[in-house]
Amino acid sequence: MKQKIVVALGGNALGNSPDEQLKLVKETAKPIVDLIQEGHQVILAHGNGPQVGMINLGMETASKSVAATPEMPFPECGAMSQGYIGYHLQNAIREELLNREMTMPVATVVTQVIVDKDDQAFKNPTKPIGAFYSKDEALKLQAEKGFDMVEDAGRGWRRVVPSPIPVDVAEKTTVKTLVDNGHVVITVGGGGIPVVQEGNRLIGVPAVIDKDFASGKMAEILDADYLIILTAVEQVAINYGKADEKWLSTLSIDEAEQYMNEGHFAPGSMLPKVKAAVTFAKSKPGRKALITSLERAKEGIQGKTGTVIMVQ
Ligand code: ADP
Ligand code: MG
Repeated sequence: MKQKIVVALGGNALGNSPDEQLKLVKETAKPIVDLIQEGHQVILAHGNGPQVGMINLGMETASKSVAATPEMPFPECGAMSQGYIGYHLQNAIREELLNREMTMPVATVVTQVIVDKDDQAFKNPTKPIGAFYSKDEALKLQAEKGFDMVEDAGRGWRRVVPSPIPVDVAEKTTVKTLVDNGHVVITVGGGGIPVVQEGNRLIGVPAVIDKDFASGKMAEILDADYLIILTAVEQVAINYGKADEKWLSTLSIDEAEQYMNEGHFAPGSMLPKVKAAVTFAKSKPGRKALITSLERAKEGIQGKTGTVIMVQ
């Protein structure tokens, strides 16, 4: 059955430097183009944590040492990351399509995602961005720059910014029109540029919308059938990293809600994926979500691996 699929790419699909990213996206393009080749409509979303962190840090360093370089606000850094990542993705997907003699157009839409200015997240920053640091380095940055720093899922220390919930996508009609006309669209990059609405104005705010939530919201808006979240792990686990770790091939809404309450999924990494998957799967009968790794995407879509979240 031909489906409308929103695919959300995690950080491991992109790497940490332009060279690495350009190389990695060629691999990332393959499972995406497999789906397109099977006749599915594919909409691509992606994260931007390391990239927006790199751009932000680079611009900040330059503004401090080069007189003519202005300070770059965080939403503008997010917009730059959408362009930079979108360029590499559209370049790689176009090439992979042409290698298989497919000619559909591919484009990135710079996407603003509307958030609520009263979202509680603005009082409690939780979203990790940028490089990993040792504890000592992290505490130094906290003291010197006033960054909020936290330990991220056992992998090191990172800066955190607020992560508000997406309410709407400003460019949704453009994305829908392109998708309906057979274009492959890259959208809500990095979760979208967070903006708050004041009358006719959309004003950028320093925050990062979780790309898992933004992808789920976009999937609902586009009336997609399937939300696929591609990350670094093949399946979702309970008791993750413990002796009694158990990998799950299916997850009902009730089970997911119980496991979320029991704290099985790390906030800022697996929790937003499971939450986004549950919200999407519950939003309309027949919708389902899959969480698996980029490497096993093909097998996951064939039902051979991954964790499927659906109403049972
Ligand atoms: P992405 O860049 O794809 O969003 P994240 O690092 O944010 O990736 O989230 C994926 C990571 O979540 C996995 O690599 C794993 O280390 C971590 N994780 C936390 N809890 C779990 C869990 N219960 N099951 C599987 N992975 C988990
Ligand atoms: Mg993540």
